[in-house]
Amino acid sequence: MFRSWLKLVDRCPACGLDYSFAHADDGPAFFALCITAFPLTFIAVWLEVTFSPPWWVHALVSVPILAIGCLGSLRPFKGWLVASQYLNEVP
Ligand SMILES: [Zn+2]
Repeated sequence: MFRSWLKLVDRCPACGLDYSFAHADDGPAFFALCITAFPLTFIAVWLEVTFSPPWWVHALVSVPILAIGCLGSLRPFKGWLVASQYLNEVP
């Protein structure tokens, strides 16, 4: 259903469904922030509170897990939102 990282194809290659109804807008970013970034931030806070590591440990651990977690969950969230729009809005 995706032609690039977050761009949808015009039509489903399997069944020909027209994806013009799909407008996820900022939804994937919102859910990545609330569902992915929030718990991962607690890991970074736990790391700091428990071990008080030097700043470069956060640069090597906290920043990558937040970046990979948030960017990696954008696409599944977009797919979920498009599916939800299809179920709730397409007649
Ligand atoms: Zn299809």
